Amino acid sequence: MATGTSLDRARVGSLMEREQRAFVNAHPISGALFDRARGSLLAGVPMPWMVKWPGAFPPFVDVADGAHFSCVDGHDYVDFCLGDTGAMAGHGPAPTVAAVERQLRRGITHMLPTEDAAWVGEELQRRFGLPSWQFAITATDANRFSIRLARMISGRPLIAVHDFNYHGTVDETFAWLADDGRVEPRRGSIGPPIDPALTTRVVPFNDAAALEAALTDGHVAAVLIEPALTNVGIVLPEPGYHAAVREITRRTGTLLIIDETHTICAGPGGATAAWRLEPDVLVIGKTIGGGIPSAAYGLSQAVADAVTAGMSLEDADVGGIGGTLAGYALSLAATRATLGEVLTDAAFDRMLPLAERWAEGVRQVIDDRHLPWHVTRLGARAEYHFMAHPPRTGREQWDHADFELERLLHLYALNRGVLMTPFHNMALMSPATSEADVDRHSQVFAQAVNELLA
Ligand code: PMP
Repeated sequence: MATGTSLDRARVGSLMEREQRAFVNAHPISGALFDRARGSLLAGVPMPWMVKWPGAFPPFVDVADGAHFSCVDGHDYVDFCLGDTGAMAGHGPAPTVAAVERQLRRGITHMLPTEDAAWVGEELQRRFGLPSWQFAITATDANRFSIRLARMISGRPLIAVHDFNYHGTVDETFAWLADDGRVEPRRGSIGPPIDPALTTRVVPFNDAAALEAALTDGHVAAVLIEPALTNVGIVLPEPGYHAAVREITRRTGTLLIIDETHTICAGPGGATAAWRLEPDVLVIGKTIGGGIPSAAYGLSQAVADAVTAGMSLEDADVGGIGGTLAGYALSLAATRATLGEVLTDAAFDRMLPLAERWAEGVRQVIDDRHLPWHVTRLGARAEYHFMAHPPRTGREQWDHADFELERLLHLYALNRGVLMTPFHNMALMSPATSEADVDRHSQVFAQAVNELLA
């Protein structure tokens, strides 16, 4: 039976060559723009992740609208990447665009609050249950600020994270467990400032005993987690894991920071509301501004009180928390419109069944072809894995990754009008995604697998 790793590799290679040729032939204008961009941009792209698109170069975008975009060569794509969640609200949602246009004429940034700030704070309270909120430009920043606050109020030096976490470019989180259990810089970590073993403890996902061992000496200020891993591939928590995390963190006086930046896909209040989690601090970024930079972090009353007691008026601007544009007027206008009118409860009621339809389409192909693969769904997000059962840990998911096969499947899809996230095999639904969009993926996936196994 074919698996991710025992497929006919020669066939994978020859299909990849054919698909690369087709991609290059169909994208002459993107190709020319890429050549030009190589003259001024490192590797021809504006940001390092963009080298990961499966074609010889990325398609350059002409217009993105709703769940689709068109490239400069005139092809239309269904977008299941959605800017790696930055555009989960859909591209250019009308209420967000209208609010942004309005705010552009009323002042973009002035380091003074607008009424939108209070509205968004109240909405975040309603969704996530935490009483006290602050804003940032990126989820990375919101995580960094949350860690700083945790250190300040606990007086403890370390943080703990899951193995194969991703929380943005936060130095302390770029750590993983080596084979011998030591903490070391994760593969690919560029220029770590110091040995992350000095700042960070790392525990496998779904391993409450390891978490307990990491926290008992009382040196860890905060555990920073995604409620389900989404950045190595989706890894869901086992029953009881979150209850154990909460019990252990409480018992050891460790703050629990939950990063909902991706897991907002679980519902309007993320996994925190859907699974009744009780974080001390909650971080959310990317999607809440509908594509305009916006992030937020919410504090429990106890954390808010401790932070307030620990901050000085005179030093409020030099504490390492905040940023000139954090909570700026344009960002909060966009966030209000996006939360209030786009990523609504009703939108999630549509998006979740679409993700299930996407998962079912993939599942059918896997079943028909007796592939030892499976599909995981987390709310509006779904993913196929090259293993027969759900991964329990990030390591297990990583061990079954197949970069070559992934790239082939993604390029095959791209050549047929379907964009997948260039990291593992994850698809995200937006309020603008349609059943026809989902069925297009199912069709293309079936065609790709048929060719692979022919
Ligand atoms: N947290 C999580 C869970 C993420 O997936 C990401 C980005 N993939 C971030 C934080 C960082 O977001 P940003 O790059 O916008 O700062």
